[in-house]
Amino acid sequence: GAVLGLESSCDETAAAVLAGDGTVLAEAVLSQEQEHARFGGVVPEIAARAHLRHLPRLARAVLERAGLAPGDLAGVAATAGPGLIGGLIVGASFGKGIALARGLPFVAVNHLEAHALTVRLPGLIEGGPPDFPYLLLLVSGGHCQCVAVEGVGRYRRLGTTLDDAVGEAFDKAAKLLGLPWPGGPHLERLAARGDPRRFPLPRPLLGRPGCDFSFSGLKTAVAHLVAKGAAADEQGRADLAASFQAAVAEVLADRAAHALAMLPAARALVVAGGVAANATVRAALAARLEGAQGRNRVRLVAPPLRLCTDNAVMVAWAGIERLRLGLADPLDHAPRPRWPLEEVRARPGVEAR
Ligand code: ATP
Ligand code: MG
Ligand code: FE
Repeated sequence: GAVLGLESSCDETAAAVLAGDGTVLAEAVLSQEQEHARFGGVVPEIAARAHLRHLPRLARAVLERAGLAPGDLAGVAATAGPGLIGGLIVGASFGKGIALARGLPFVAVNHLEAHALTVRLPGLIEGGPPDFPYLLLLVSGGHCQCVAVEGVGRYRRLGTTLDDAVGEAFDKAAKLLGLPWPGGPHLERLAARGDPRRFPLPRPLLGRPGCDFSFSGLKTAVAHLVAKGAAADEQGRADLAASFQAAVAEVLADRAAHALAMLPAARALVVAGGVAANATVRAALAARLEGAQGRNRVRLVAPPLRLCTDNAVMVAWAGIERLRLGLADPLDHAPRPRWPLEEVRARPGVEAR
């Protein structure tokens, strides 16, 4: 049966209805970008109130478009962490309310698991979904991680950022260049007119063992150059943007290659998160995967952009995957602002570690 998915962990309010086989019956995403832009970042209290205001309407709209009433659903899945606690409480409580009223199973979805399983949506990826295990490179505003995806509910984090998330680094560099928030896409457009070799910026952790990330040194280097007047003229700004983007892309490709060496059975590298939209980043990853032949070939799998950034289709799908395994959650399940993937439950009746 159909599952309603709800997403409210950050600054996207989203709802979606998927048929039991994963067919998307209706979806809606409302970005709160406009409400946070003048503060230069997501304001948790504003986000929570906006979710409260918009989620019921979005949920009703997708159900209507799917031609379903709440009682026709087979389950409700809501993001229950990690993320901003106010928004998580809004979405999870709303989902629990529907589940309680209609006697439906409720699934508390880990947002990172939803990103990790998106590529398994039937028909989404040309050539079919990747087999387990695959490597997930999650590059968004709040996360920068390499995750071994070994099965539904079976994840190992291989590396993470020691300081800023990569989207955050893009946004901070963009701010230094005088671009509006969120700056990632603006920086990419500016960089298109720049020379990536003009400024030799640091490549933090490049070539180091493991696959952790660090971006604060890179951001500081950009700040120093801006202070010295490197971005005083238009060409300087474009060159600095291009140099920054090239450094990030090179680091991401290097770290992903290290992660793949830690997961030799993986035949696919899956990118997700807003930064996966960046063409230079994608090209650097693709270039790094080229060369390997035959059995050792690893393909780059990038979901369409609307499913890379936060959405409710992925939440409903994660709900379907979990319901198939009998992994519903009790209605007193508490949302978690921090919820590492390793602590996601893999089997019914077994509590997470
Ligand atoms: P979470 O980390 O919980 O998934 P989020 O809302 O911060 O949440 P996304 O919506 O996936 O993450 O991504 C937003 C981030 O991606 C922002 O930091 C934005 O600047 C960055 N981003 C979007 N497009 C691009 C691009 N073309 N190039 C670089 N960065 C980009
Ligand atoms: Mg967002
Ligand atoms: Fe996300």
